[in-house]
Amino acid sequence: MIPAPFDYVQARSLEEAISLLQRHGEEAKLLAGGHSLIPMMKLRLVRPSLLVDIGGLEELRYIREEGEEVAIGALALHSDVARSPLLREKAPLLAQAASVIGDVQVRNRGTIGGSLAHADPAADYPAAVLASEATLVAQGPVGRRAIPAREYFLGPFTTALEPEEVLVEVRVPALAPGTGAAYLKFPHPASGFAVVGCAALVTVRGGEVTGARVAFTGVAGSPFRDDGVEGAVVGRPAEAEAMAEAAALAAQAVDYPLSDVFASGRYRVHLAKVFARRALAEAVAAAAS
Ligand SMILES: Cc1cc2nc3c(=O)[nH]c(=O)nc-3n(C[C@H](O)[C@H](O)[C@H](O)COP(=O)(O)OP(=O)(O)OC[C@H]3O[C@@H](n4cnc5c(N)ncnc54)[C@H](O)[C@@H]3O)c2cc1C
Repeated sequence: MIPAPFDYVQARSLEEAISLLQRHGEEAKLLAGGHSLIPMMKLRLVRPSLLVDIGGLEELRYIREEGEEVAIGALALHSDVARSPLLREKAPLLAQAASVIGDVQVRNRGTIGGSLAHADPAADYPAAVLASEATLVAQGPVGRRAIPAREYFLGPFTTALEPEEVLVEVRVPALAPGTGAAYLKFPHPASGFAVVGCAALVTVRGGEVTGARVAFTGVAGSPFRDDGVEGAVVGRPAEAEAMAEAAALAAQAVDYPLSDVFASGRYRVHLAKVFARRALAEAVAAAAS
């Protein structure tokens, strides 16, 4: 399939990209890895008249430690995130989510910024950034602003980014001592997207769970933190039975689960419980190791 006609500019700097977005408004689209935008253009679901290619801006491709956080540039590839020893040690949820995105080709072209800007309800990173309590940094004509992950996802394919803003960085707090993390998903057999994905981060002290964050992707129109599961697991013994009891409460607040020919809403809610149980158990085991 062939996209509608469009103009193309390779941005030489972040400032140039922002100024082009400002000048062309919603007619312009940023191009990063192109692994979501190009398929949508081919299907004519989007018809930008201008593509602003930021893929060559190497200054946005980094993963580095900054104080108690790990800063990830928006153009870090999924494969950079998956392989990063720094992330694996300090903020493993992001690396775990990146390592199960699509296939090798997708991971070698797609970027974390592109995925989070696209906000597909079945994408993997959203659950990981929510459970990590990451901050998304956007830059626009008037400077930078930080958006907490919980305020960033507004609906299917909709985020708090303004049309003239570029997502430039994701900042992930390092794990506290005694904390373990796990991201697990039930992948769609064709695309690899998450039919349901669960990110769990659990802090254990003296055999008891003292903190928990659990987030889902794929279950509803937006990724979400599951306060029900989190509340049920804190204060309980860090043991399989307590994790299973808490996981049974997963997705209770979801009124309209996603439903399609592959997985009904009811099945997705069932999967949410199963994957919450597994992810909590893995996170507890990681906290103990
Ligand atoms: C076969 C296949 C399988 C896939 N499987 C999975 C999977 O299992 N899990 C998963 O999570 N994803 C999956 N994906 C999607 C993949 O992860 C994409 O790489 C990602 O969604 C988009 O990243 P990109 O860099 O390619 O962005 P692009 O396609 O270039 O851009 C996507 C959108 O984000 C905007 N954008 C890009 N960068 C920025 C920025 N820095 N600031 C603001 N806006 C920006 C663009 O304008 C566009 O609207 C799959 C894709 C394919 C083709």
